[in-house]
Amino acid sequence: MNDVKNPKKPLIYYYLIVLVVIMLLNATLVPMLSQRNIQQVDYSTFLTMLSEGQIGEVQVDETQIAFTSSEEKNPMIYVTGRMEDAQLVDRLTDAGVSFGQVVPQEMSPLLNFLLSWVLPLGLFWLVGSLLFRQMSKRMGGNTMSFGKSNAKVYVAAQTGKTFNDVAGQDEAKEALTEIVDFLHQPEKYKEIGAKLPKGALLVGPPGTGKTLLAQAVAGEAKVPFFSISGSEFVEMFVGMGAARVRDLFKQAGEKAPCIVFIDEIDAIGKKRDGSPMGGNDEREQTLNQLLTEMDGFDGSKGVVILAATNRPESLDKALLRPGRFDRRVPVELPDLQGREAILRVHARNVKMSRDINFTAIARATSGASGAELANIINEGALAAVKAGRSTVEQQDLEEAVETVIAGYQRKNAVISMKDKLTVSYHEVGHALVAAKLKHSAPVHKITIVPRTSGALGYTMQVDEQEQVLMTREQIMDKITTLTGGRAAEELIFGSVTSGASNDIEQATKLARAMITRLGMSETFDMTALETVGNPYLGADASLMCSADTAARVDQEVVAIIRQAHGQARQILEDNKQKLHELAKYLLEKETITGEEFTVILNRLPQLPQTGEDEKPEETSTDK
Ligand code: ADP
Ligand code: MG
Ligand code: ZN
Repeated sequence: MNDVKNPKKPLIYYYLIVLVVIMLLNATLVPMLSQRNIQQVDYSTFLTMLSEGQIGEVQVDETQIAFTSSEEKNPMIYVTGRMEDAQLVDRLTDAGVSFGQVVPQEMSPLLNFLLSWVLPLGLFWLVGSLLFRQMSKRMGGNTMSFGKSNAKVYVAAQTGKTFNDVAGQDEAKEALTEIVDFLHQPEKYKEIGAKLPKGALLVGPPGTGKTLLAQAVAGEAKVPFFSISGSEFVEMFVGMGAARVRDLFKQAGEKAPCIVFIDEIDAIGKKRDGSPMGGNDEREQTLNQLLTEMDGFDGSKGVVILAATNRPESLDKALLRPGRFDRRVPVELPDLQGREAILRVHARNVKMSRDINFTAIARATSGASGAELANIINEGALAAVKAGRSTVEQQDLEEAVETVIAGYQRKNAVISMKDKLTVSYHEVGHALVAAKLKHSAPVHKITIVPRTSGALGYTMQVDEQEQVLMTREQIMDKITTLTGGRAAEELIFGSVTSGASNDIEQATKLARAMITRLGMSETFDMTALETVGNPYLGADASLMCSADTAARVDQEVVAIIRQAHGQARQILEDNKQKLHELAKYLLEKETITGEEFTVILNRLPQLPQTGEDEKPEETSTDK
């Protein structure tokens, strides 16, 4: 707001400059043009010269008398003040000089006109236009655009994205294609009486390609595309957000048919429940304005509103009712095929070796989002550069998967031999238990190379097929596998380490879910004891049962874990030879593949005495 005052100062300066210039012109240029050799004399000198016949010519003015000397060459010009002299004309006649009244000293009328009218006007015009330009530059940025929406208008080519850039997500693409198609040829739909949905809401976990899809729609639709993020409506001053919404829809109305995309709409669309702190006035006003605007325009005009969010449950009900965002387009985490397709899309821009097995990478990345997969390809490319290769190899991608899952390798980490040994047994414990259980995914890789995430080693299991449903047995086997690491430590060293903390956390979460959410316990049957707050952003569940029930849930959780732990110990005890053999091999190699693991596991037992010899010192404390 300060800016409004500033332009006045330069304005005054400019006027002053103009004034000074005009005054200078008047003071110097004009007299200079008219001035010649003029000498001031007094009236008596004039009379004397007149009587002595020294005057050639006389011109009489209102206030002064100008006359020339009578010398033939180079006559002087004299000026004297005019006195009240009644006999002046008589004297002049007597002296016999020629005289007149007019003073012909004026400049040419054209020059006069130019100087006194055109020049100042031209100057003012110049100054004015300069000023205006400066003012509009100064104010255009903020002051004038106060309250205007800053939605970017994309036209087709500008995002450069099309549906080809979005892999998987076929259902979402189909739903959006329909909208694009409607905007292209509305008659086809109108003929049959179909109405276009006013709005479509893209919902799904972060990184699944919602923003990307919207950009692709912009690329496909050959209509104007307004894009704005929900947070851009949230302003300092109450009413500003609402003004922005109004402005956005006004612009959109003028450009119809067009698409308006509001990213992260939860920033303004949150439920309007009166919170104890007093609601957020600004946000509620903005939301109200949005609701009004969405009702206000009729669909036939051809304005379609897309919005994206990963917190659909937090949106106000009013936004979701038919007539507003009546279409909900789920954008879920990709399945096996989807992941492979996404990897391929991103591999297009990277030099890949010919024999890359994308399926293997897709299989190893169950649960990864599109953004993570894009990241894996990039990390693979970085790894290839690091290794001095000119194309990305399978091993680079494998490494990239681990980097994304567990962080970078900590090559220089100093880990004592004893700790390494413990980690080896721990990891082989997991792998061995997994291998011996019926419903557990096969071991893909075991490593004891420490990672920046803090993991000292890990066992990777990869399902052959995509798991959509999990049976009770599968979950139980997963818990048992998770307890296998600790069980191996107990069995071999007789003591336990802190290394199992992550396993414990995961196992407990699974066991608790079995009881409270999945209805897999005898005691509670199909009762829901927990609710999940928001499904797309990490399932943080909150317990909703009496304290008494909560205590019994805890007991059941402990029972499940205890049972699994016991089973894991039993398996390892039965396969102690293999445990030693594999741990020694892993310690030596640091990383072993699933195939190597299976080979060692299935080969005939070696001579019993060598097996006994390989025992580390601590193994004597078997129970
Ligand atoms: P969000 O759903 O959180 O808005 P984005 O659309 O921003 O996710 O996706 C982030 C990035 O992840 C994209 O720029 C793209 O590189 C990649 N990505 C996500 N999903 C896909 C997909 N289905 N196909 C191709 N790339 C994808
Ligand atoms: Mg996004
Ligand atoms: Zn572990």
